[in-house]
Amino acid sequence: WQPYLPLAGLLSATEVVSHWTAVFEKRGIPEAQASSEYIVAHVLGAKTFQSLRPVLRTQPLSPWQLQHVQKLSSYRLQRMPVQYILGEWDFQGLSLKMAPPVFIPRPETEELVEWVLKEVTQSSCPMGAQGGPLILEVGCGSGAISLSLLSQLPQSRVIAVDKGEAAICLTQENAQRLRLLDRIQIVPLDVTLEGSWSHLLPWGPMDLVVSNPPYIFHQDMEQLAPEIRSYEDPVALDGGEEGMDIITHILALAPWLLKDSGSIFLEVDPRHPELVGSWLQSRPDLSLDLVAVRKDFCGRPRFLHIRRSGP
Ligand code: GLN
Repeated sequence: WQPYLPLAGLLSATEVVSHWTAVFEKRGIPEAQASSEYIVAHVLGAKTFQSLRPVLRTQPLSPWQLQHVQKLSSYRLQRMPVQYILGEWDFQGLSLKMAPPVFIPRPETEELVEWVLKEVTQSSCPMGAQGGPLILEVGCGSGAISLSLLSQLPQSRVIAVDKGEAAICLTQENAQRLRLLDRIQIVPLDVTLEGSWSHLLPWGPMDLVVSNPPYIFHQDMEQLAPEIRSYEDPVALDGGEEGMDIITHILALAPWLLKDSGSIFLEVDPRHPELVGSWLQSRPDLSLDLVAVRKDFCGRPRFLHIRRSGP
């Protein structure tokens, strides 16, 4: 059975979408219709199929456009995430460049950002000397969290760290695209390495630490969708036996890097609020309290607010 369309056919965008939706469905590709709509819209220079002018939906595609759709669709048949195929994706209204194997920001992480913004603007979190918070992001990936906080908190400054070179480069590129380079420091750093935090001391103690760390339980890595397993860097996902390896390293940074009464906001697995709560009880030396747990849009407890109560 031939999934490709004859190049010379006078097919409209709508017909091409239908064709590839059927191909993707037949091959068991998830989100078949959304995938084909994104691909066709992208080739026609739009972000979404819905935003295409009606005339562009009914007009025949040129042979070159048809060939381009075929090429991008062949990547989707190999289970490449649509975000990598398009090479960009929106997060909190910002258009970010995406490139494998850098972690693709998920919609629930937008909820983490919204929570941080709410807490900062309602001032339950401390503000930095310059009128806005100094924020550390651990594991910045494409820069999604850091850049959306910077763009919505005009006085804030961010130190974004990641141990992956591809992530550091992509955050840099996205900061440049969004003209936010003047308020961000992007630092290659592995927080699990002994004493690595000392490289961050020159910027002074942080008001906030934010992270969507790798938190997947190691034994669950096998069950991830092929889109994730074959394309995204496992280092951004695998949190070790109980998904806590990086989380505990971040919490242990607090005495060195976090201001008294500073806050840590984390995205975690639904099993983590309990695990993190009891881990914190075993580490009274860190003076950290789990002050709030928030649910994601599916009702699962996924976000933690941890506050430093001072020495
Ligand atoms: N929520 C992500 C996923 O399921 C995992 C995110 C992470 O480990 N930081 O793919």
